[in-house]
Amino acid sequence: MRVYLDQLGCRLNFSENYTLAQRLQAAGHTVVDRPEAAQVIVLNTCAVTSEAARKSRQSVRHLHKRNPQARIAVTGCYATLQPEEAGTLPGVALVASNQEKELLHTLLEPWSAELDDPEQLARLQPDGVPFPQAPVLEGWGRTRAFVKVQDGCNNRCTFCIVTVARGASRSRSVQEVVAEVQGLVAMGHREVVLTGVHLGSYGRDLEGEARTDLKTLTQAILQETDVPRLRLSSLEPWELAEGFFDLWQEWPQRLCPHLHLPLQAGTDRQLRAMARRCTVASYRQLVAEARAAIPDLILTTDLIVGFPGETEADFQEGLAFVEEMRFAHAHIFPFSPRAGTAAARFPDQVPKSVKKERSRRLHEVVERTGRQERTRFLGTARPVLWEGEGQPITDGPGRLWSGFTDNYLRVMAVVPEGVELHNRITLTQLDELHGDTLLGRVLEVERAA
Ligand code: SF4
Repeated sequence: MRVYLDQLGCRLNFSENYTLAQRLQAAGHTVVDRPEAAQVIVLNTCAVTSEAARKSRQSVRHLHKRNPQARIAVTGCYATLQPEEAGTLPGVALVASNQEKELLHTLLEPWSAELDDPEQLARLQPDGVPFPQAPVLEGWGRTRAFVKVQDGCNNRCTFCIVTVARGASRSRSVQEVVAEVQGLVAMGHREVVLTGVHLGSYGRDLEGEARTDLKTLTQAILQETDVPRLRLSSLEPWELAEGFFDLWQEWPQRLCPHLHLPLQAGTDRQLRAMARRCTVASYRQLVAEARAAIPDLILTTDLIVGFPGETEADFQEGLAFVEEMRFAHAHIFPFSPRAGTAAARFPDQVPKSVKKERSRRLHEVVERTGRQERTRFLGTARPVLWEGEGQPITDGPGRLWSGFTDNYLRVMAVVPEGVELHNRITLTQLDELHGDTLLGRVLEVERAA
């Protein structure tokens, strides 16, 4: 079968689709890079906000329009929380909950017998366009790979529907994750990102001798594989093991100096109402420890604006704390009540116009701190992992490449035509800042050529 995989939402969905792509390929199916070429489309949906659920429905309709003959399988948080509605969307032939997601490749198997029929194959082929011959894992980029090490969460943050949709925390074994990373490195990946719903709780659910934690897993990956860069995705700002940040002193070259620590709110009153397991003081302390231990650390976060009961005074106090933390980037979500969460029933919902205005002020502060954070790297050189193919430029010779530093700053650089940077890590001098992108000079261009 030819399968097209798409996703909305978090890195976890991306990582799950990546794993599914590998499983499908191992079973002899072809993962294609556009819906028109597919017999089966899998959409990994999101429901973190009502807007995300709306976009999930919209994506199904859009994919069906692009290929009305393909069977669509929907999975992910929206499909888990609203399976009946998802099943009525055009083209949808299968709704798989998050619990069934791990087995999705086997759930799709019965379709293979029908769809792999040669006559049907010919009929489904779109307008004589040849199907890609090779597996299209390149479509997923061979630079960064996402490895899901944990799913679910035992916390009950009052705004969070994801934990309701994904159940209790459960982790993969250290050996299994190490083997997957080894496989990805053998396939040519230069960076691996560890993902999970509550990554910081990794390993605590495992029993007996298997019980472990994220620090041990990170050490095992760095010791037992040759992965050039290892990055941790979002980490809730609590439950990290004693001496967690020492890892960066032990592995300064390979462990990326970038942390995404969701703050959500900058006052204790709101953190309590959200049932977060941190306070402003504990967050401040954690960031101070991280900055002391990790040179050139870049910090990013998630923030909710207009949580029920948020007064102007709360907002201003939170804004000052956000400024103090010097985030380089923040995902800012205006609060949207999700049915099934405690916060949806909270009194004192904040009017939409107020959320909009506060969101604008919050963006302004984060843009300013983001600029300051990027500016301090001007004139320095950092390793950049180059992605994509390089775009031709109109105002001179050469191609424009784009990539990320180890501390997750976007960099662009022009190099002469014919220099192949894709999936290379090169030391790059950071010269100028344009918006949130640094313009750089590849210092190792000769070696990269
Ligand atoms: S810790 Fe994260 S995943 Fe768990 S309930 Fe809170 S926001 Fe949701």
